[in-house]
Amino acid sequence: MADDRKAPKFIFVTGGVSSSLGKGLTASSLGRLLKSRGFKVTMCKLDPYINVDPGTMNPGEHGEVFVTDDGGETDLDLGHYERFIDEPLNRMSNTTTGSIYSHVIAKERHGDYLGKTVQVIPHVTDEIKSRIRRLGTQGSDIVIVEVGGTVGDIEIVPFIEAIRQYRRDAGKDNVCYIHLTLVPYLAPSGEQKTKPTQHSVTELRSRGIQPDVIVCRSDQPISQALKNKISLLCDVPIKAVVSAVDAPSIYDIPITLHEEGLDTIVCETLNISTVDNPIDLSIWRNVVERVHGTKSVLKIGVVGKYVTMSDAYLSVAESIRHAGFAHSAKTEITWIDAEKVPGEIDAEYLRQFDGLIIPGGFGERGIEGMISAAYIARTNNIPLLGICLGMQIMVVEYARNVLNLASAHSTEFDQSTSHPVIALMADQQNVSDMGGTMRLGAYPAMLNEGSMVAKLYGSLVVSERHRHRYEFNAMFKDRFEAAGMMCSGTSPDGRLVEFVELPSHPYFVGTQAHPEFKSRPDRAHPLFDGLIVAAAFRSDGREPQILKVGDASYI
Ligand code: GLN
Repeated sequence: MADDRKAPKFIFVTGGVSSSLGKGLTASSLGRLLKSRGFKVTMCKLDPYINVDPGTMNPGEHGEVFVTDDGGETDLDLGHYERFIDEPLNRMSNTTTGSIYSHVIAKERHGDYLGKTVQVIPHVTDEIKSRIRRLGTQGSDIVIVEVGGTVGDIEIVPFIEAIRQYRRDAGKDNVCYIHLTLVPYLAPSGEQKTKPTQHSVTELRSRGIQPDVIVCRSDQPISQALKNKISLLCDVPIKAVVSAVDAPSIYDIPITLHEEGLDTIVCETLNISTVDNPIDLSIWRNVVERVHGTKSVLKIGVVGKYVTMSDAYLSVAESIRHAGFAHSAKTEITWIDAEKVPGEIDAEYLRQFDGLIIPGGFGERGIEGMISAAYIARTNNIPLLGICLGMQIMVVEYARNVLNLASAHSTEFDQSTSHPVIALMADQQNVSDMGGTMRLGAYPAMLNEGSMVAKLYGSLVVSERHRHRYEFNAMFKDRFEAAGMMCSGTSPDGRLVEFVELPSHPYFVGTQAHPEFKSRPDRAHPLFDGLIVAAAFRSDGREPQILKVGDASYI
């Protein structure tokens, strides 16, 4: 980065016309492009809803809750940010209306406003700006801020006002506004239409923001004539009209946007030299080559409860794909409704999969089905990775069917079980507030030498992110180990079991953590990598094959 520029630059990404246009992915892709020009980039999401954080929201409606190292429960877009810019974010990287208001109201009650009438402008907008400003004090050259929702929404107004003011505060050359819109194709007239874009830009301007760049989402590339028209009507340079056509995979988007000149126009707006900061996309191009250069197809089934909303397991799905990329294998994911196991979904159905995952979750629905799926995977040598709730399910199944503790359960689902193999930690017993009462964020674990997990991680000390209330009940540890289930990783003090595995099975690994939050497209997570390697063995008919060191190069 040029020496004459100490102050960080801020890029604000807004959306218009429709939700779900891929604002998060556009912002993430831009982040990757700027990182590839040598800048240190951080990202943030401003969410206009009133929940203080998404931790209490139903993943079946809102999608996954992404967890940061410092235990922030955040919007799933932060997962895209981390996967694309490959920088750890933190709880400050996601701000909601609820968190802003609760802070402002707490300050008011404390008398911090010195008798003033507390108002949206300036008190709420000042709080929004101070959070944006704070992100610029963490050593990044560039801060990308995505504003959730759509311009014109009632809830978004204070955020738009705050980012409008921000250019005045930070200086013209330090702020860039990007607006993402939809250019629909209307079949009867056989044309792409610019009117929704015009309206959306008009709406943004009515709030005092003139976009510097307009990114147009469409299913077909935008013609030069259409770019000219948008440029004229929306008052941006022609080269600042960027066509973002549907991409074959999300990992193609940075390349597509670079070819459209997005990072160049953003640099020009921010007065950053593209000559002094040339782009090196070699790592990313390598990822994209792997995404498309697939040799084999592996079938992975995910047995969960939120299967009608695949965003509920977004990071799990991406982690499966990353592990596939690492081995040039295409992974075909099937979402399996746990409530249908056994019954409509039986052992014969599950045997078609090369590997299975039981992901995290809360609440009783589907639990018995997951336990059946774990039983089927264990007794049929189907590779299985259990994540958080998934590990707890593996433990309950083993207790019931191998330790012969027929009533074994987690106290989350049966408080009076005589064999509580999964239970609350002692210090969590009396908590009634559902927000933020979990074991959250990164915790270290020590792995057993010679265990499968130690081989996969290539280390005896690891750190993974957590989000749960219940734990393996250490009272039962000796009985499990005597019966063949290894507790292969624990907290450093040995109190909490973090990993379990069955040495006699091709791949039966459970973790109390959420490894899916740390997988990257160019660095598959070891536990997903292990699952994919075991799945590849299974798919070529060589089952049961116990994984050994070095097997990762098998496919
Ligand atoms: N419901 C379980 C618990 O609270 C598992 C949580 C999860 O899978 N994230 O411990």
